[in-house]
Order: sequence, then structure tokens, then C-alpha cells
Amino acid sequence: MSKEEYIKLCETIDYHMDRYYNQDDPEISDYEYDQLMIKLKKVEKENPDWVTPDSPTQKIGGTAKREAGVKVTHDVPMLSIEDVFSKEDVVAWVDKVKSVHPDCIFSVETKIDGLSMTLRYERNKYGFLNLTLAETRGDGLVGEDVTKNALEISDVKKILKLPYESLQLRGEVYMAHSEFEKFNAEQEQAGKKIAANPRNLAAGTLRQLDSSVTKERGLKMFVFNIQNGPEELMGSHSYGMDFLSNNGVKTVYHKKCSTSDEIIKTIDEIAEMRNELEYDIDGAVIKIDQINYRNDFPAGSKYSSGHIAYKYPPEERVVVIDEILVDVGRTGKTTYTGVFHDKETGKPARLCGTKVTRATLHNQDYINEMKIGIGGEYKLFKSGEIIPKLNGCVTAPKIIFNTPDRCPVCGSLFVNEEDTADIRCENSLCKAQLSRTLSYFCSIDAMNIIGLGDSIIDTLIKNGYINNFADIYKLDAYKEELIANNVFGKEKGTVKVLETIEKSKSNDPSKLLTGLGIRNVGKNTAKLIMKHFSSIQELMNATYEELTAINDIGEITAEYIRKFFDEPKNRKIIDELEAAGVSMNISESAVTSEKLKGLTFVVTGTLPNLDRKEVTDLIENNGGKCTGSVSKKTDYLVVGEAPGSKLTKAQSLGVNIISEEELLNMIS
Ligand SMILES: [Zn+2]
Repeated sequence: MSKEEYIKLCETIDYHMDRYYNQDDPEISDYEYDQLMIKLKKVEKENPDWVTPDSPTQKIGGTAKREAGVKVTHDVPMLSIEDVFSKEDVVAWVDKVKSVHPDCIFSVETKIDGLSMTLRYERNKYGFLNLTLAETRGDGLVGEDVTKNALEISDVKKILKLPYESLQLRGEVYMAHSEFEKFNAEQEQAGKKIAANPRNLAAGTLRQLDSSVTKERGLKMFVFNIQNGPEELMGSHSYGMDFLSNNGVKTVYHKKCSTSDEIIKTIDEIAEMRNELEYDIDGAVIKIDQINYRNDFPAGSKYSSGHIAYKYPPEERVVVIDEILVDVGRTGKTTYTGVFHDKETGKPARLCGTKVTRATLHNQDYINEMKIGIGGEYKLFKSGEIIPKLNGCVTAPKIIFNTPDRCPVCGSLFVNEEDTADIRCENSLCKAQLSRTLSYFCSIDAMNIIGLGDSIIDTLIKNGYINNFADIYKLDAYKEELIANNVFGKEKGTVKVLETIEKSKSNDPSKLLTGLGIRNVGKNTAKLIMKHFSSIQELMNATYEELTAINDIGEITAEYIRKFFDEPKNRKIIDELEAAGVSMNISESAVTSEKLKGLTFVVTGTLPNLDRKEVTDLIENNGGKCTGSVSKKTDYLVVGEAPGSKLTKAQSLGVNIISEEELLNMIS
């Protein structure tokens, strides 16, 4: 492997580490990740001089948790339970067991949909059992040490006042529906990805590096087995469970049954109960109660002897569609929601303990494929996922729903995206998109109006203060009102925001152009374009040919620009912005020299005097180019305090490394 490939590998691992640990959203499996780390370690062993403190093998973060000796070999293997999918199979198994041990009794239990954990207790000097280790199942033989996190779960007993030398309990860690919904609501509020189901979230939470996160998310646990313990607890399984229960351990629902009829009845009772539970279950476990009989019924190396699990079929209801809602999202994309009732009850459908009245219909293609329309009847199911899904059409409607021609919010004609199934409203000042459009206008790359964050913009729109870009510059007329309504806080806060707005008027016009949010015209393109025009007005009147004549401006971008400025209401907004005093003209003095012409710079770390924007402007005003990442094309890396991985990369590529002072010397 070349050094360049090595650096690339480090970057790949860094990327996946971030997905896994910071974003809770891995793109690759743990196995694939582990393979990358193994490869990296091998390379580093062969080339020890390449290793820097930045290497994923050296950092706390991902690797500490996976690498710091946290693998634990189980004392008693943590095996799975063999599934059966019909009651006939349950009866057949019971008959088989009974034919060998006619006195056999069974324990029928709920199968919680969570993740398995074993707790090891050892006698301490005061004569009590002390929790010494908590381990996840892993591959059944080797799991992960999650003791620190387990200590944050209130159902996990830290001390058991029992007179034994040691005890090992196995149970299921899970997340209650309420905690799961709370988490997702918060994620949604913060614009972050929501978790698919309580099980995955519980697993991610238990394996967290930061145990305070585990504490916050309120995991719970039911104990369902004694893995190892004193003889008196290893005779009858249900005796052991009841004994634990009497000593304060939360044990799983279990019922003693002696005949197959009783077992089937209990399985049905659990199914009934399922809707009322505050957590997900995915089956019922049937265990031989006499522990010493279990080994007479081996089930292979993967499965526990003397156990089977009956899996309930996924819950399903038939629903009738009453209404189809078309909404326009913040990006202009249409979204569809089907509103329905349960065909049988006429009420909201009940699935897995929750009421369901709506499901997403994705896009028009999905609607056509599923034959969705008002009055149509569809199967609805929910299995493992919190979001219910329609699962096939039972009775087709008279008319299949078709997206209206116009945006229901602003009345603009919808546009069909050619390469995707999306239908969009392309009016960026459509109310549905307005807050996003205005947030972008105020963002750091655009007009940089700090203080006008997303939620404040929403409030301003809702109360009718702003409907377009120009309205932002009219806010000072409402100063007293804004203070009275506490929109930006009291007087001091309001004055501060209004000052920032005022200050933004003198921004370079390329920032204004960026803020207009014309498709394909981001920060860099806007800068490039404004090098060719003396003012926004000149750009506004530039022909398509003049635009495409600019290097790097393609036909599509030119078209978007023309389309924007051809719209009379957009021209009006530009006029209003100008009237409000927003700078439209390129100041001649901005470009001070061409001393850095043809050179590409990257900046890393904190510079002693210049902030990031100042140094970027300085480089660009002297003809240089500033980019975000180091590559072979980079001429200089400007390094400040606490540089990131860019420094390592620049060193490995032989890029010139300079300080702020050296940069200033190049210009002066
Ligand atoms: Zn619209």
C-alpha cells in the first residue's frame, strides 16, 4: 500500500467512525468496519513511521470502545432460540418432549424485542452479590463489556442481598414506546435522523461510549434466565424466576403450563396482551421448566436446548382511505399522506398498542403502483418499524389519486423532476419553502445575518413581518413592536439583530447573489460570476450568451439565472433591496493585487489574527483561490493553532506549509 492509499484509508475510517459514533447512522456493517481497522493496523505495523496521532488507531472515539479490550468471552454461551411459526409446530415439539419426559412442565414467557445482556454478580466483602460485569450477546460466545452503561439502567440491580458466591442473570434490554417516541420527537425537532424502531435504538444506546447518553434515554430490562448460580436455583426455571422476583429483580412475564392446550392458551393470552404493553414483543418463548431435562432436546450449536420461540405473525389491519393530503416540504418537494380508518371498527386502526390513522404515500409512482385513491382498501401493517406501512391493495378505489397541477400553498404550477419521481413547487418564495429560503439568505455564506435563526424566521413569517428577502431590511420600522413581542429578546437583543441586518447591507454583492438561492449558484459560483459584472443590476440584465461566455458557467446554470431574473416579482425584490440600501455594486478596491494569482490555499487551525472569513477574503482579493480540502493541487496550507488532519495530509503530499505571518509577507 502506498502512503497515499494509507491516508485515504485513514480518511475512510474517520468517515465511518463519524457516521457510527456521532451520527448514529452507520453506512457499513460492524464487520466491514472491523475489516477496515484490521487492514489499517496491518499497514501501520509494516510502516510504523507513517502513524500520526491523527490515525484512527490512535484516537479515542471510535476505537476506544471497540478496541480497548472490551470484548468479553461469555462464561455461559448466550445462544438464540429456535423459532417456530405455527401452533402445530409448538404442539409437535411439546409432544416430543412429553414422550421422553411425561412429567415435563413448561414455562411460557413473553419474548421482548430488545437486545440480550448478561449480568455477572460476585460476592463482595460485605457478603452481598455485587454487579461486576454486564455483557452483550455479540456472536453468542464473545460479546462486549457494557458494564458502565448497564449501571445507568434502573432495572439493573447493582447489589443483590443474596448469600451466594456468584450469580449470572440473562435478560433483555429494551426501550419503552414512550421513550422511543420522545427520542424521535426530539430528533425531528432538531432536524436529525429518526430511529427506525425501539430495538435498534436500544442497541445503539446500550453500546454508547458515553454512559450519560444511556442514562438519559431510559433503557429498561427484564431478566429471563439464570445462566449460572447455586444449585437451589438451577432445578426449576420458574422457581428461580419467582425467587428473583421476590428479591426485587424485574423478571419477564412467565406462566407455568403442563399441557399443550395450556401452552397454546397462554400464547393467545400473550397475543391479546401485546396491544397493551408499553414495549414491543415479537413472540412467546416456551421453555422446559426442569433445567436438567433441557439437554435431552438439543437444537444445534446456535440454539438453546429445550427452548422454542413461537413468532406471532405481523399485526395487520385493513384500512379504508378517507383523504389524501398533499404537502410541500421545505425543499419544495411534494409529500403525500394517506388518512384512513379501520374497515372493521370504523375507528383508527390499532397496531402494536398504538393508534394509527395515517401513513406516508411517498410519491406519485408509489400511489399509481399501490392503486391508491379515496375509498380504496389496503392492508396496513407494522412490524419492527414504528412507521406503519400500507402493504398491498385489497379493493381498488374508483379513481386512483393524481397530484394536482398546482401547489396547494402558493398556486404555482408543479414541476415534474425528470430524473426522479419527485414533483416540486419551484417557487422559492412559496410559503412552504419560505423559511428555508430566508434561512439560507441569512446564512454565513450568504448575507451572514447572525440572530436570524430558523425558529426566529419562522416566527417572523408567521406573524407577517417577512414574506421575501427585502422585508428583512424593513424590520427596523417595527422595532418597538418586535421588542414588545419579545421576538429577538428585549431591547438590547433587538438592537443587536437590527444592527447585524444593517451591517449586512454593505456585504460584497456576491454574498447577496448567493443568498438569492438560485439553483446551481452557490457561494463559489456567485463569487466567480460577480468577477464579471460590476453590479447585480448588470447581472440581472445579462443575456444568456453573456452568461455562458463565462468560464465554468454552464448552460443549465445560465438558464436558472435567467429564469430567476426574468421573473418580475424577483426583479421587484432586487429593486426593493437596492432601495433599502443593500450594496449592489462591486467595489473596485476589493481586489487589491494579483500577487497570489494561480495559487490555491487551504487554511487549518486558528490563526493568530485573522478569522476564517478574513483570511479567505484576503487570499481571494489578492487573486488566490481558497479551498476546503488538501489535495495535490493545493499550493499552500496556512496553519494556525490546533490544526486538523489537513496538516498531516499536506505533509504527506509535500504541500508548502506556512503561517499567517508568511502569508501576509507574500502579499505585502
Ligand atoms: Zn408553492
